[in-house]
Amino acid sequence: MYDIAVIGAGVVGGMIARALSAYRLSVCILEKGHDVAVGASCANSAIVHAGFDAQEGSLKARLNVRGSELMAGVCEELGVKYKNNGSLVIGFCDEDRETVETLRRRGEANGVKGLRVIDQAELRRLEPNISENAVCALWAPTGGIVCPYELTIAAVGNAMDNGADLRLDFCVSSIDRIAGGWRIRAGAEAVEAAAIINAAGVYADGIARMVGDNSFSIHPRRGEYVLLDKECGGLVSHTIFRTPTKMGKGILVTPTVDGNLLTGPTSVDMQDKEDKATTAEGLSRVMTEAQENVRGIPFGKSITSFCGLRAVGSTGDFIINRFGEGFFNVAGIESPGLSSAPAIAEYVLELLRQAGVKLEPKPGYNPRRPAMHAFREASAEEKNRIIRENPAYGRVICRCETVTEGEILAAIRTNPRPRDLDGVKRRTRAQMGRCQGGFCSPYIVGLLAEELHIPYEAVTKSGGKSVINVGRTKEV
Ligand SMILES: Cc1cc2nc3c(=O)[nH]c(=O)nc-3n(C[C@H](O)[C@H](O)[C@H](O)COP(=O)(O)OP(=O)(O)OC[C@H]3O[C@@H](n4cnc5c(N)ncnc54)[C@H](O)[C@@H]3O)c2cc1C
Repeated sequence: MYDIAVIGAGVVGGMIARALSAYRLSVCILEKGHDVAVGASCANSAIVHAGFDAQEGSLKARLNVRGSELMAGVCEELGVKYKNNGSLVIGFCDEDRETVETLRRRGEANGVKGLRVIDQAELRRLEPNISENAVCALWAPTGGIVCPYELTIAAVGNAMDNGADLRLDFCVSSIDRIAGGWRIRAGAEAVEAAAIINAAGVYADGIARMVGDNSFSIHPRRGEYVLLDKECGGLVSHTIFRTPTKMGKGILVTPTVDGNLLTGPTSVDMQDKEDKATTAEGLSRVMTEAQENVRGIPFGKSITSFCGLRAVGSTGDFIINRFGEGFFNVAGIESPGLSSAPAIAEYVLELLRQAGVKLEPKPGYNPRRPAMHAFREASAEEKNRIIRENPAYGRVICRCETVTEGEILAAIRTNPRPRDLDGVKRRTRAQMGRCQGGFCSPYIVGLLAEELHIPYEAVTKSGGKSVINVGRTKEV
C-alpha cells in the first residue's frame, strides 16, 4: 500500500508529488493520459500572474502571490525556462482607468510588489507597438512567463527521480474504503493507498463523488489560442492584458519563453469535458481582439492554434480541503493555477501535516534536475565537445527548432519517459516549429519505435487511437 496516491499528473499533481518526494513517503501518481501534462497544464497562457486579479482574502490571491514568489527558484532547480518579463493591463477609457486603479489597490492588498499605474507616454516607451488608443496601464514588474508543460514534466520527473511511481493510462473509475486506506481502481487494475490527493482537473468533481463528496462541481471553460512564428516574438516584451471581465482576463498578447508570440484565450462555458477543438469563431475573435491591443500582429505567420479547458469550480475559489479520513481535494484550480502550483504544493503539505501525516525529510532527496534544453543553450565550443563524445548530438532531426537526435534520445530515456510523438514534442520542441513536424515526425517515430522496442506502426501521436501509420507506404 502506498502512503499517498496523487490522482492527476498536471502541474498541480506534479508539484504536489515532487513536494511529497522530499519526505519518507511512498508516493504514486495516477494519470489517465498516455503521458503527463495532457490536461489544462498543456494548453494555457503560460503566464506567471503577479497576483492582482483574485479577490482579496481568497485562497487564489494568497497562493498566486506566494506561487509567483517561488516560481523563479523552482524553475531554476528543475531546469525549466522562466522569464520575469513583467505584465501590463492596458486601459482605453476612463472606465478602464478606474478598473486599472482597482486592480492596483487589490494587488497591493494581496501583497503584490512594485505595482504602478503608468500613463500613455510611459506605456509607449515600454511597448512601442501598443495600440495608439491605449491611454494607461497597470504595470506589474513581478509578472512572468514559463513553459507550463515543461514545468509539469520536470516536476513529475523530479518526483520519480526521488522515488515516486507513475502509472499512466490509469483512468480512476472507482474508489473504495479498505482497512487503513483506499483501493483505487482503473478498470481491472487497482492501487492501494493510505491517502489520496485528488488533483484531477476538470474531473476532480467526479473523483470526489467516488468517495461521497458532493460538495462542489466543476465545469469546463474553453480558451482558444493562435500561436505565431518566432519571427514575431519580439513584437511585445511584456504580457499585454486588457482590463478583465467576469469571464476572465480577456485576450492577451505575450511573448513565450521560447520566443514565439501567443494570442488568446477566448472564454466560453462548455458542458463537454473533452472537447478541445478550436473553432473558426473563437480564432477569429482572438485575432480581432489581439489587434485592438497591439498594432501590426502578422497573423499570416501563425504556426498553430490550440484550445485548453479551464476547470471552473462552483465555489469561485480554489477548493483545497480534506474530506474525511485520508482524502484531500485540490480542485477548481483554474487560472492562476499554474502560477500558484508551487504554493499549492506547500499548502497541501501543511494540510497533510495537520491531518497527522508524518513528514520526515528523506535523506538523499535531490530537488534539482538537468535542463531539458541544456544542449540548445550550450556554447558552440561546448556543443562541439558533446558531439565529439556522442555523434547523435550532431544529427539535426527537427530543422525548424534545430533539435538533434541526441536530445530526442535523451528525452526518451529520461523520467517521465515519453511514449508518443506529442510527448517528444513537449520535451524537446521537435515538431514545434514552422512545419509543425511535417519534416521530422517520421524520424522521431523511428527513434521512438527503436527505443521502446515496438513496431514503427505502433507509435501514436498521443496514445489511444491517435494512430499515425496504418501500413508501409508502398503497401497502402
Ligand atoms: C485557457 C487557459 C488559460 C490559462 N492560463 C493560465 C495562466 O496564464 N496562468 C496561470 O497561472 N494559470 C492559467 N491557467 C490555469 C492553469 O492552466 C491550471 O490552473 C493548471 O494547469 C491546472 O493544473 P491541474 O494539474 O490542476 O490540472 P490538469 O493539468 O488538467 O491535470 C489534471 C490531470 O488529471 C488527469 N485526470 C483526470 N481525470 C482522471 C482520472 N479519472 N484518473 C486519472 N487521471 C485523471 C487528467 O488527465 C490531467 O492530466 C489557464 C487555464 C486554461 C485552460
